[in-house]
Amino acid sequence: MARIFNFSAGPATLPEPVLAQVREELLDWRGTGMSVMEMSHRDKPFMSIATDCEKNVREVLDIPANYKVLFMQGGATAQFGIAPQNLLRGRTTADYLLTGDWGKKAAKEAGKFAKVGIAASSEGDKFTHIPDPAGWTLNPEAAYLHLTSNETIHGVQFRHFPSGTAPLVADMSSDIACRPLDVRQFGLIYAGAQKNIGPAGLTLVIVREDLIGSVLPGTLSIHDYRAVAENESMLNTPSTFSWYVCGLVFQWIKAEGGIAAIGARNERKAQALYDYIDGQDFYRNPVRKADRSIMNVPFTLPQPETQDAEFLKGAVAAGLSGLKGHRAVGGMRASIYNAMPEAGVAALIDYMKEFARTRG
Ligand code: PMP
Repeated sequence: MARIFNFSAGPATLPEPVLAQVREELLDWRGTGMSVMEMSHRDKPFMSIATDCEKNVREVLDIPANYKVLFMQGGATAQFGIAPQNLLRGRTTADYLLTGDWGKKAAKEAGKFAKVGIAASSEGDKFTHIPDPAGWTLNPEAAYLHLTSNETIHGVQFRHFPSGTAPLVADMSSDIACRPLDVRQFGLIYAGAQKNIGPAGLTLVIVREDLIGSVLPGTLSIHDYRAVAENESMLNTPSTFSWYVCGLVFQWIKAEGGIAAIGARNERKAQALYDYIDGQDFYRNPVRKADRSIMNVPFTLPQPETQDAEFLKGAVAAGLSGLKGHRAVGGMRASIYNAMPEAGVAALIDYMKEFARTRG
């Protein structure tokens, strides 16, 4: 078996011990004689998987009791609409901070339900930084303030979160569980699982319970956080297999030393890559240093037309895949999520050095 270092932005690399356990349990989950994929979500075995997963998510992310943890479907994209449907609570406006394409998409979808105010945007600077909070325009009537904690395409990540604003809503799809964080700063957190915490098909939602229960008229029950919570995320058939694997990923985080250890390792990985990029002239990363992502590292080569394809081809031959940047920004992007080992980043840097040496 040959595993390669997979730098894909998502679906993304999963921890090898998790995959090994899935393989081990695939045909017969703990003496039940069936795969998790074949189980009724209503029967005891899956109920225990679901309960354990929530327990581990709460423990690892230190989620207070007054927050609901929901396992939904439809990805972060569905949450772009579900969030306003639930959180407007009689108000008509919501504020959005735009630090990349995902925030822009979220604001556009929210516009179908709310008057959207753009509190700030760095689009004029090609989303290469987070606008200075002193210049944000916050509407006192806004039901919430939405931000994208990590912009996957542009590699821009919030290090500090605003306080004293309307309830904070964060799309954490690409940086959930990547570092220690106080959940109490947020009214709502949502994240598609397929980058840091499991396979595609599952969306993790963490919502403060006093914010739920008054959805917009016409909201489907399956999109009503309170209805989902009251039914333990089983209002319809949930994404059982993804839920199971997500539980294993959180167990793995615990075994690795918890979120503090994971966060420290992520910082080391990102630091190594940025230090290398900043210390030479061949590759460039355009993001302001203070706002650089520890999860997604975009970089460009001096002659994209001739060098990009060659770089990618050589990378695959060196056992490094998924490095092609998003079409919106071009160039390369190394996604170095929790499951990417330090050895993977070291191998990438070695390859980058060698490529630059022969082409520079
Ligand atoms: N938000 C962010 C920050 C993302 O990175 C992505 C996926 N790349 C999405 C939203 C959309 O997620 P999904 O495909 O789960 O709907």
